[in-house]
Amino acid sequence: MTDDVHVPPVGERSWWLSKALTADPGAPCPELAGDTTADVCIVGGGFAGLWTAYELTERAPDLGLVLLEADVCGAGGSGANGGFFSCSWHMLASLCHYFGEDEGVRYAELLADQVGELGDWVARHDAAIDFHHEGILYARAGDWQPGPDTEGQEILARHGLSDRLRPVDAAGARRVADSPQFRGGVFTPDLATIQPAKLARELRRVLLERGVRIYEGTPMRELHAGHPAEVVTPGARARAGHVVVTTGAWAAADPHWSRAFAVAVDYMVVTEPIPERLGEIGWATHTGIADSREMVLYLRRTEDDRIAIGGGGLGLVYGGRIGGRSLKSQRLAELAASELLRLFPQLEGVRFDAAWSGPMDVARAGVPFFYTAPSGNLHAGLGFSGHGLTPTKVGGKTLASLVLGADDEWARLPVVGPPLTLVPPEPLRWPMVQSMSWLMETGDRRQEQGRPRGFARCAAGRVFDAYCAALPRDRRRR
Ligand SMILES: Cc1cc2nc3c(=O)[nH]c(=O)nc-3n(C[C@H](O)[C@H](O)[C@H](O)COP(=O)(O)OP(=O)(O)OC[C@H]3O[C@@H](n4cnc5c(N)ncnc54)[C@H](O)[C@@H]3O)c2cc1C
Repeated sequence: MTDDVHVPPVGERSWWLSKALTADPGAPCPELAGDTTADVCIVGGGFAGLWTAYELTERAPDLGLVLLEADVCGAGGSGANGGFFSCSWHMLASLCHYFGEDEGVRYAELLADQVGELGDWVARHDAAIDFHHEGILYARAGDWQPGPDTEGQEILARHGLSDRLRPVDAAGARRVADSPQFRGGVFTPDLATIQPAKLARELRRVLLERGVRIYEGTPMRELHAGHPAEVVTPGARARAGHVVVTTGAWAAADPHWSRAFAVAVDYMVVTEPIPERLGEIGWATHTGIADSREMVLYLRRTEDDRIAIGGGGLGLVYGGRIGGRSLKSQRLAELAASELLRLFPQLEGVRFDAAWSGPMDVARAGVPFFYTAPSGNLHAGLGFSGHGLTPTKVGGKTLASLVLGADDEWARLPVVGPPLTLVPPEPLRWPMVQSMSWLMETGDRRQEQGRPRGFARCAAGRVFDAYCAALPRDRRRR
């Protein structure tokens, strides 16, 4: 790591959310103060909850909808992320491993379709979310980084989709942005960068316009099964025919979901505005960039000509205890900042204006699950695993179908059902996953410094891959 990188303390709110709230706080959504009833009560105002409410207003406009959010809509990962509204071609081999080739490809195609659909949604609702559909370069940033995943490319070729992941050489990669580290990579057009907190706030605006009753500052304390089901908040109760739980990483505190995923914490930093320096490194478009290390780095331009970068390492939360120090690793924020300077030494001396973090519900298989309890009226959409922007949009359609009892393509997706597999229980999980992620992070760093990765660090990567893949091959849901 570079010693002379100065990063502001990791903030409580993401830079994206602070900007979005300052620009437009939106209509007030007070906390729920008295008992209420609804057809559907959605708990959690991140993308999963907001898209579910949106889909229900599209398909059943007469339903009475209530959405309860503990903080403000977009306060979780949805307002803190990199803003890569992304396909999943790069994880196609895993999807096919879990779901079978045809189902895996079908699911990946649906995710990729969401990028264009979001563009249509932006136009339809005149939504100001800084949407740029300009693709992403998965760069090989150093000789030590692996080349493109050939298994995924072969699957794409078999399905006539080779053009979705296009290999580029070093010159092609450096045409996106001139990093001396770039050796080549692959480009896909199926990604848009957005201002994520603005998307959360615009979804909130559209829902309010459609009559959804949103209560912010209203955490669910208890959920009682029944017909109707009952959600208890600090000051009131909401009774509803259906309840949909979309509380993201926070669901880990619920014994039902305590082994459905681990809670990891990702960090981002943003530079000061640097329009001239962006020109110097030739980053003229809004094409996003990720590298190919084990602890991937991702970076993109902002609307006001800054660079936002995250990744390179992960924090881990013990059990479901999100908050306090578990979200405040200055080391991991500085790591992301110093990696920007390693990729682009031309930016030496750049100032960093903000740092933030967000918790993520990381399922072992890296795919979400959409589950309906045997009662038929309690639903959950969780486990988005650090890449939930398109899966939450698909998830909104899926959860709406589950609520409406529709037997359609969304309700038949292979991600419908309980989690594919469980994570180990605490107190085993924290030391196990944290030490693997630390070995992977330090292994990446040793290699970028030209040192051997070392036996333990190579083994950690392989153990981690085996841990994630240790599922029955080709596990189709139906
Ligand atoms: C730093 C970072 C970078 C990322 N980058 C990307 C990226 O570029 N692309 C991508 O696809 N994904 C990315 N992700 C992951 C992505 O942000 C998530 O997968 C996605 O936002 C999950 O949405 P969600 O609605 O499930 O959860 P959240 O957005 O976390 O929403 C859950 C909501 O529930 C609320 N809540 C919690 N408990 C309660 C309760 N008891 N009662 C009521 N409300 C409650 C929370 O306040 C929160 O608002 C990133 C994540 C982070 C943290």
